[in-house]
Amino acid sequence: MEFINENYIASLIDNVRLKNTQLQSEIINKAIEAKGLSLKDCAALLNIDKPELFEKLFTAAYKVKEKIYGNRLVLFAPLYVSNQCVNNCLYCAFRRDNKQLIRKTLSIQEIKEETEFLVKQGHKRILLVTGEHPKKSNLDFIGEAIETMYDVHVNGGNIRRINVNTAPLSLEGFKTLKSFGIGTYQCFQETYHYNTYVKMHPDGPKKDYAWRLYAMDRALQAGIDDVGIGVLFGLTDYKFETLALLEHAFNLDKRYGVGPHTVSVPRLEPALNAPVSYNPPFVVDDLSFKKIVAVIRLALPYTGIILTTRERPQLRRELFEIGVSQISAGSRTSPGAYKVLSDLNDNSQSEQFQLGDHRTLDEVVKDCCELGYLPSFCTACYRSSRTGDRFMRLAKTGKIGKLCTPNAISTFKEYVIDYASPQTKTAALKTIDNEIQKAESKIKNKILRMIKEVDAGRRDVYL
Ligand code: SAM
Ligand code: SF4
Repeated sequence: MEFINENYIASLIDNVRLKNTQLQSEIINKAIEAKGLSLKDCAALLNIDKPELFEKLFTAAYKVKEKIYGNRLVLFAPLYVSNQCVNNCLYCAFRRDNKQLIRKTLSIQEIKEETEFLVKQGHKRILLVTGEHPKKSNLDFIGEAIETMYDVHVNGGNIRRINVNTAPLSLEGFKTLKSFGIGTYQCFQETYHYNTYVKMHPDGPKKDYAWRLYAMDRALQAGIDDVGIGVLFGLTDYKFETLALLEHAFNLDKRYGVGPHTVSVPRLEPALNAPVSYNPPFVVDDLSFKKIVAVIRLALPYTGIILTTRERPQLRRELFEIGVSQISAGSRTSPGAYKVLSDLNDNSQSEQFQLGDHRTLDEVVKDCCELGYLPSFCTACYRSSRTGDRFMRLAKTGKIGKLCTPNAISTFKEYVIDYASPQTKTAALKTIDNEIQKAESKIKNKILRMIKEVDAGRRDVYL
C-alpha cells in the first residue's frame, strides 16, 4: 500500500539518531505549539525511555489538548446490534468459528428498548457497533436501526448523534450510510502490518487488507465528512502501529484536506474463545500505552482521541491527563445487554470482549468532575454542519474550544437536572460554577444565557 511504507517505518524505528534525548526534548518543546509533528519527530518521541522525558511528554500532550479543546471530555456509549459475523478475526469473540458464543441480532423493538435505556441514563451519543453479516446486519437493517434510535424520545431526552463502527462498505454503500444521518464512520485497521493482518484475518471479507485500508477514502468520497481510524494494540510492535496510523492520518489530510475526526486506541482484551486475545503477541504495557496516546495527541492536535471502557478506571484517569478527549461510560459489548438481557446479568457468553471499567455513567461523570474535567454531552458541531474541513479549520486554529466549552456546560447542566444522582449533582454544580468563573467575560455572558434557558426547561441549547 503506497502510503504505508513498512520499510520506511522500520528504518525510522531503528534510526539510532532518533533515540537522542536532547533531540526528543527539543521535539517536545516544538510540539507544545500544537502545529503537529512529522513522522520522524513521532518516531523519536516513541523512543523515549527516560522518566523525566516521559513527564515532559505527558505534560506537553495535556497542554495541547487543553489549548484546542479545553478540559472537556465528551461522553458516549456503544450499542451493539448484532454479534453475528462472517469473519474469523483471531482476537474477537464474535468470530465465525466461535461456537461457544450465544448469537443474537436485536429486533427493531429491542433496539428501541436498548436506546431507551441509554437515553434514561442521560446519554446523547451512541456508537452503533455490529459484526459483519450480509443477512443479519446489512445496510437496510443498519438504516432501520439508526432511524429507530433517533426516534426514541423519553421525557425530553433523545439521542442526537449516532456514530457507526461497522465493516467497510463500497462507495455506493457509504452514500447510503450517509443518508441515514450518521455522525462519524469508524473503522479500525486493527494492524497496519501486512503479514500480521493476513495472519489475524484468515478468512471472510475482512481478509482483504487494501479494502479496509481504503475504506476511509471511499467514505470521504461518499460525503461522510467525519471518519475515525484506529489500531488494535497488541497484535504487533506498537511503535510500528502508531507510526503507520499517523501516516494514514497525514495521508488523508494531504489528499482530502481533512484528517481523521477521531483516533481510537483499543488494546486487546480477553475475549471468549478468541485465541490471540488471551495471549497477545505484542503486549503493550501501561506506560507505553500512555506514550502512544501522548504522541498521537502531539502529532494530531486537532483530532478527537477516544478511550473506551476496555481500560481500568485508574489508567483511564491517567490517560485523561494526557490528552484523551472522548470516552465511553457505562458500556456493555453484547447485543441486548443494557435492557433486553439485563436480567441475566451475565453477558460473558455473548459479549465481544471483557471490560476494565464497569462503572455507571453517573459514577464516571462524578469522577470526572472531581478530577477537574468538564463532562460534555454536546453534539452541536455535527448538527450545525461543522463537520469535515469546517470542523478541522476551527480545530486547527484552536477556535473550537470557544464553542466546546459553552456547549459542554449547557449540555452538562441538562444532564445534571435530568439524570444526575444527588452526590453527582453536588460535584457537577461545583464544576459548572468553576467553569463559569474561568470564562472570559464575553463567553461568560453567553454561557449564563444558555444555562438560564436550560434551567427554564429548554433542552438542546447550543451554539
Ligand atoms: N465488525 C466490524 C469490524 O471488525 O470492523 C465492526 C465492529 S468490531 C465489533 C469493533 C472493534 O472491536 C474492532 O475493529 C476491533 O478493533 C475491536 N476488538 C475486537 N476484538 C477485540 C478484543 N479482544 N479486545 C479489544 N478490542 C477488540
Ligand atoms: Fe467480526 Fe469485527 Fe469481531 Fe472481526 S472484529 S470477528 S469482523 S465483529
